[in-house]
Amino acid sequence: MAEQQADPLAEWRLRQEPYYQPVGHEIAAFDAARTARLPLLLKGPTGCGKTRFVEHMAWRLQLPLITVACHEDLSASDLAGRWLLDAQGTRWMDGPLAQAVRHGGLCYLDEFMEARADTTVLLHPLADTRRVLSLERCGELLHAHPDFQLIVSYNPGYQGIHRELKPSTRQRFVAMNFDYPDPPTETGIVQREGLASSELAGQLVRFAVRTRHLRDEGLEEGASTRMLVHAALLARAGLSPHDATMQAIADPLSDDPDVGAVLRALVLASF
Ligand code: ADP
Repeated sequence: MAEQQADPLAEWRLRQEPYYQPVGHEIAAFDAARTARLPLLLKGPTGCGKTRFVEHMAWRLQLPLITVACHEDLSASDLAGRWLLDAQGTRWMDGPLAQAVRHGGLCYLDEFMEARADTTVLLHPLADTRRVLSLERCGELLHAHPDFQLIVSYNPGYQGIHRELKPSTRQRFVAMNFDYPDPPTETGIVQREGLASSELAGQLVRFAVRTRHLRDEGLEEGASTRMLVHAALLARAGLSPHDATMQAIADPLSDDPDVGAVLRALVLASF
């Protein structure tokens, strides 16, 4: 208990250094945004390394990282906090955002496009020069700790059913674009993360690059780095490269029978 009071965000600290292979100038870009105290918007396809990058930065900065996956049922009070009733009576409990603001940490809101309007509006005074979070329900105006930083991410290729960020939200952030790493870099990542030989990692990356050109065939998004790592791990667990790629990539990627047939043919041609 005493330990918890000494570091209220202890549970959000990373215990191990996350492996991250830089792919461009993203570390300098992050550092500049942090120095300028500007919130960050990370844009890029799913599974291309956005979350890993944020984990890496949290580790470098030795700051806790509070991650929240946004969805349409996430309310402003899920982020800000709520009153709880227990044996001692009612007490206020900070939500994850309020904890990061109060004690100083990185707050990473993943799938930000899925967030409801009341959630995004809550962020406005936090994401501009005011750097405050209004905890209306407990009557407190929280001034952000100097270490607090807001980071949100979304995939511009997939915007859910109907969503668009409002200009008033969008314009408070500085953006960083992410994409799949170049093939040699991605091969190195798959080798390391998937414990794969360079030959298999290279084959997987070449296959992935081909799937990323299948938009015209109806595939919204091709194989991500994450999927390549999964395939490599299945191969390491004993599957043939063909079966591992089917199971980790081709089958999960699409339910459409025509796209499925194209992917199966591509797997056969590649392994
Ligand atoms: P997202 O963009 O969806 O947040 P993640 O950061 O979770 O994607 O990346 C998915 C996986 O891909 C990671 O768990 C990691 O194995 C691998 N990965 C992608 N890019 C990198 C990178 N630059 N360095 C190390 N691992 C990476």
